[in-house]
Amino acid sequence: MLIGGERVDASSGEWFESFNPYTGKPWALIPRATPADVDRAVAAARAAFKSKAWRGLTATARGKLLLKIADLIAARADELGRIETTDNGKLILEMRAQTRYLPEWFRYFAGLADKLEGRVIPIDRPGYFNFTLEEPLGVIAAIVPWNSPLMLAGWKMAPALAAGNTFVWKPSEHSSVSALEMASIFAEAGLPPGVVNIVTGFGNEIGDALVGHKDVAKICFTGGDATGALVYQTAAKHIKPVTMELGGKSANIVFADASLDNAVKGVVSGIFAATGQTCVAGSRALIHRSIHDEFVERFLKLARTAKMGNPLEETTQVGPITTKPQYQKVLGYIDIAKQQGATCVLGGGPAKRPGLGDGWFVEPTVFTGVTPEMRIAQEEVFGPVLSIMPFDTDDDALAIANDSIYGLAAGVWTANIGRALKMAHELEAGTVWTNTYRVSSPLSPFGGYKRSGFGRESGLLAIREFVQEKSVWIETTGADTPNPFVIR
Ligand code: NDP
Repeated sequence: MLIGGERVDASSGEWFESFNPYTGKPWALIPRATPADVDRAVAAARAAFKSKAWRGLTATARGKLLLKIADLIAARADELGRIETTDNGKLILEMRAQTRYLPEWFRYFAGLADKLEGRVIPIDRPGYFNFTLEEPLGVIAAIVPWNSPLMLAGWKMAPALAAGNTFVWKPSEHSSVSALEMASIFAEAGLPPGVVNIVTGFGNEIGDALVGHKDVAKICFTGGDATGALVYQTAAKHIKPVTMELGGKSANIVFADASLDNAVKGVVSGIFAATGQTCVAGSRALIHRSIHDEFVERFLKLARTAKMGNPLEETTQVGPITTKPQYQKVLGYIDIAKQQGATCVLGGGPAKRPGLGDGWFVEPTVFTGVTPEMRIAQEEVFGPVLSIMPFDTDDDALAIANDSIYGLAAGVWTANIGRALKMAHELEAGTVWTNTYRVSSPLSPFGGYKRSGFGRESGLLAIREFVQEKSVWIETTGADTPNPFVIR
């Protein structure tokens, strides 16, 4: 692990196995941190936060360090992508695209580091000068899931460091290897020891110690909503701010005026790219009734061509499920959908094609005849399972799309700009894509409505999640204190 600039083992001396989802076999040993290790990591981050080496840097100098981190990630992007694919089973094309783009988050927030400015308030009280300071919060704890390990950590780390905080990073137990590989980059970039710390282990063993630690100022969490609720409760007990990115049940809505070819590809990429293991998976396809049958026919034709296989091969289009419990969960949802009366028109079980090894593969699966109250239409599956539902009017589409406890993202396929804008206004989702799906950028805010979470990552305002505003008052006249027993 990385604590205070040192590479360390867990204090317990214990390790656990990380599995390659393609082979279903262990391929790496990860230190199993204890609460004592968390305590050491937070202490190191706190000491770094107070240190002259970090606090004494100008904001411009901090930005330059982030630029160096960006360059070092860029130089190792392909290697890091390969590690992520081996660890989480998502396609090399996907993980490499993420690790190649990740430096841009560091560059974007590097540029913002010295643009955090306080304000001079035109105060309404004569004889006072009032201004504000934008101060870092302290130690930020980042808890990150397995689906996009480095990218989701970088979204938190880059603005946190740019604003002058220090960082303790707990990767998922299922995908810790790329985080540990990144550890050398921070020292090489010239970051003072303790500014970034990495503890690996099981969330249920060290999560509380991290979230509830008295010296952790804020928690940034991405993961499932059940774990998110636990983290939120612990944070509440200690009155700590949190940001939460908790997944979704995003609707991909295809209107009759859309380019059907593009829409078919967009819905495929929304659900089968990343094997459906993405928080923004477009797992509900809402199709205008007039094109429903033609859409389904064309969709199945394309989906049937999906090449499953080794995610490290460039030609593979659908890889395995990352973890065995997740594999079982996805298969469980397929059974539930069948029991509740949805019609399985593609896939519907484990994939047993040649060349799939012993990995955790699920056939790309499509259900039609899904109704909005079915569990498959309401609950996050996090796998390659699509529910297709017809709609009649724009208002029907909105009603079905918004009938969800989640609100992370939505897709709209239409040639009508007026309709696109109406959807953009009325869909209850943190991101609305029109005639595209799953595009992101460090410049554009990302986050959820409703149970998909709160707080935003990326974009100009994301850095404000990592500062607190201090109001400073100066009496400028030297006038006598009036009645000291009365508020001024
Ligand atoms: P979790 O939400 O359980 O895990 C996310 C992170 O939280 C991991 O680092 C995990 O550590 C950590 N964690 C677990 N328990 C605690 C705790 N008590 N306190 C603090 N941190 C904790 O995701 P899972 O991997 O278990 O997946 C469950 C479901 O979450 C998936 O089926 C999917 O629906 C959803 N999900 C959503 C994601 C998204 O992008 N929004 C990403 C991944 C999953 P550890 O790995 O050691 O348990």
